[in-house]
Amino acid sequence: NKVKMEDIVSLCKRRGIIFPSSEIYNGFAGFFDYGPLGSELKKNVKDNFWRHFVQRREDVVGIDSSIIHNPTTWQSSGHLDGFSDPMVDCKETKLRYRADQLFCAPVTVEECGTTVGFVCVLEANDEDMVKAAKKQAKKLLKESDRKGQAIQPFAFKDLTQVSEEEMGQIPSPGSGKPTLTMPRDFNLMFQTNVGAMQDGSSVAYLRPETAQGIFINYKNVIGTSRQKLPFGIAQIGKAFRNEITPRNFIFRSREFEQMEIEYFIPPGDDVWQPFHEKWIADSKAFLETVGLREDLMGYDVHEGDGLAHYARACTDITFKFPFGEQELMGIAARGNFDLTSHTEGSGKTLDYFDEETKEKFIPHVIEPSLGVDRLILALICSAYAEDEVNGEKRNYLSFHPSIAPVKVSVLPLVKNKEPLVKAARELFEKLQMRWNVQWDQTGAIGRRYRRADEIGVPFCVTVDFETIEDDGAVTIRDRDTTEQVRIPMDEVVPYLSKMIDG
Ligand code: ATP
Repeated sequence: NKVKMEDIVSLCKRRGIIFPSSEIYNGFAGFFDYGPLGSELKKNVKDNFWRHFVQRREDVVGIDSSIIHNPTTWQSSGHLDGFSDPMVDCKETKLRYRADQLFCAPVTVEECGTTVGFVCVLEANDEDMVKAAKKQAKKLLKESDRKGQAIQPFAFKDLTQVSEEEMGQIPSPGSGKPTLTMPRDFNLMFQTNVGAMQDGSSVAYLRPETAQGIFINYKNVIGTSRQKLPFGIAQIGKAFRNEITPRNFIFRSREFEQMEIEYFIPPGDDVWQPFHEKWIADSKAFLETVGLREDLMGYDVHEGDGLAHYARACTDITFKFPFGEQELMGIAARGNFDLTSHTEGSGKTLDYFDEETKEKFIPHVIEPSLGVDRLILALICSAYAEDEVNGEKRNYLSFHPSIAPVKVSVLPLVKNKEPLVKAARELFEKLQMRWNVQWDQTGAIGRRYRRADEIGVPFCVTVDFETIEDDGAVTIRDRDTTEQVRIPMDEVVPYLSKMIDG
């Protein structure tokens, strides 16, 4: 994927998709605001997920829980003790880094194996960073007055792997000097106080994931929805994590949205695997229906150390972002860890009674978990396209019609012929009843097409002289192929409906 991050960020700002948060106060790291087009895009992404996984399935129901839960929830879930990232501080600049995302490599004289110093980078797979590190290594070797070369390629390791002695020599990226503390755990949950008191008894947390809201409502849903195992509960909503190094635009932010499902299944060693596989396939299929490019997706199967201690399996669906291939969503088989923990923590047995076998048990769970914002970034990267139309370079967003923020642009060919404008306006108002559409009457038609292309409007409908004087039909132009079809006015809605809603 050749698209550059700076082009994406600049397009998002220029076209009102995503802004840095609190921009008039110089922004606020890790927070973003969605503009007029971005909020439509986000709503479409969430609606598509909800339709796909909740409304069009009989075995999944939705909930919308509060963001702040009884704080004991986080004790039981393990987040209070375990939801942390290792962090290192630069003593000089006071900048903070995630120790597992900061990489160092010793610079060694080839002939004698002596280490003359360390280089340090934030991304071990970023070519530019590695290039800069190599330059630095050469300088170190020269300064040390040694012949020889740094061993290539560098053997980078992250800062959670280094000894205290090594840490004393690793330069902080902020100060360039060895001024980093040893890694320590940093809990990612945001704290707040509930009620007027500000003492320890009033401390509560903004949820770092939507999943726990599902588990603590498990009994309520079982008791009210007539669902039988296997069945799922879905939730879409905000989550908050005090990320140490929020980076890569909306890929890792401190406030974001998640779309999560807990799919409850019977226990048993041979039961979960087919469900897990099915959810991986269904998740991939969903991502394709909203237009994510198949060639940019991949899988990352967690094994050994990469797997949480209670998890049976976890497969990530990855996406090739401009800054590298990274997790887009995770599909985990979590056993019965969560319901068991909340049973112990609350004293309420979160079990299931199987009417047929007359057995009682705590169900196991498959958890597909997808970040709304991360998906939006992937969709924008996927849709970012460039081609040539009539010998002119064209930049456009090839959004799938179902997620495109604006579905149709209605263009009266001229703005000073009343019957023509009136006919176009009537059509516009009709389309407005169904979709988010836009009206554009300024400039040459070609320019209006370009404007629509740049924000990913899939269809332009042009009302011209023939419409009112002759055939009562309009021209519909397809964004991706730029091909045009002539369609009678009263067939426009059914035609577009087929293209947009499937
Ligand atoms: P990472 O390793 O990237 O921090 P994670 O494994 O901690 O992610 P999960 O806890 O599994 O992530 O969260 C599920 C999904 O929520 C992720 O796949 C991602 O899409 C999204 N997500 C998690 N953290 C963030 C964040 N800080 N900003 C945006 N999206 C996020």
